[in-house]
Amino acid sequence: MDAHATAGPRLARRSSAAFVPAGTPPASILPVVKPLPAKLRRLVRAFACLALAAHAPAAERKLQRFDGREYLPLDAVAATFGFPKPAPLGRTSAATSTLTPVIGAAHAAEFGSTTVARLTATAATIALENGPLRLEVTPGLSEASINGVRQWLAFPVRLEDGRAFVSQLDVTKILEPRLRPERIAGLAPVRTVVLDPGHGGHDRGAISRFGFEKDFALDIALRLRPLLEKAGYKVVLTRMDDTFVPLEERPAIANRIPDSIFVSIHCNSSSTGAEARGFEIFSIAPRGVAPTNDASPSDRDLLDQPGHIAEIASGALAGSIYHALLGQVPMVDRGLKHARFAVLRRCERPAVLVECGFVSNPTEGSLISAGPWRERIAAAVAAGVQGYATLAAEKIRPPTLTDYRAATRRSESAASATP
Ligand SMILES: [Zn+2]
Repeated sequence: MDAHATAGPRLARRSSAAFVPAGTPPASILPVVKPLPAKLRRLVRAFACLALAAHAPAAERKLQRFDGREYLPLDAVAATFGFPKPAPLGRTSAATSTLTPVIGAAHAAEFGSTTVARLTATAATIALENGPLRLEVTPGLSEASINGVRQWLAFPVRLEDGRAFVSQLDVTKILEPRLRPERIAGLAPVRTVVLDPGHGGHDRGAISRFGFEKDFALDIALRLRPLLEKAGYKVVLTRMDDTFVPLEERPAIANRIPDSIFVSIHCNSSSTGAEARGFEIFSIAPRGVAPTNDASPSDRDLLDQPGHIAEIASGALAGSIYHALLGQVPMVDRGLKHARFAVLRRCERPAVLVECGFVSNPTEGSLISAGPWRERIAAAVAAGVQGYATLAAEKIRPPTLTDYRAATRRSESAASATP
């Protein structure tokens, strides 16, 4: 991590074309929408099937405002996605858990905060299940579990008069594309994968007794390349060796290549202690959504960034890669997160930043320093890329954590049955 957070020049405010899926009533956090430029009009049309379209009239009627923000009752959310109606909540208000997400020192530096909000659950987790789909939310927490994977939300789930409410922004920009990625329209095919090994040259990234992040990131990218080429993709690396590449040049490479996606590879490190561990993955914070590691929403959340043109696609790419990672490599699930790192906000193609574990954690640092472990990570990221490419080409939902674990069990039992 570290230096990928440091930005180039601050982006100028562009015209305020808001990306609002058709059929979505304006969320309070979004400014008044001006007429969209032609390019965006096409995109918005392409996403017309997204977000409550079929249920919009009913869902809109149920919108309620709390603290100037619009929310949907969880039972309306359940109906939208075909979940059974959630059981009524008792007035259980005792805190059941607290979470303090860890943020790397340099990531924090860009956004001027070294801590993030301490989140306290106010009621028990509510689980909704419908065949292959599972959604869990906990009033008081800005996170959900979607198909077994942690997903950070823009705003905490609220508990009002014994009913749970989810912010409308979370429903349209996060739950909808995560729960029904196959309904995302207009995804460009994937022909080229731009791999971006973080750091390089004088920028060593995280430093540990196991080695430098820049070297691990490059090695994972070099292992990924043949896997992706074998699967039929063209692969471009932003750096092939231990050289420094300025942050702004990295996404610019993908921006010049049509039908490309951008995968930035990093290893994590924590300035607050050696215990932080696990995978996490970032895509651009959708317009109106604060970066996950920010303590509170700010005006910057409303700035229009080049990366917003692909915000839904980037989230889908992140989901596909993250399920594959957790499904194929046993690590702690820190979640699907949102950020405005320079490489994400400047990339106009679907873009993600993968954090492949903590070199500052003795166990994970030791694993990451081993070639076979990095090969496993590379194979999992390749599977996630494939899942996204199939989604884009054929509108087939990428495999979930459950799918990957079932496949692992099948191959293990097949292997143990072989004499
Ligand atoms: Zn890094």
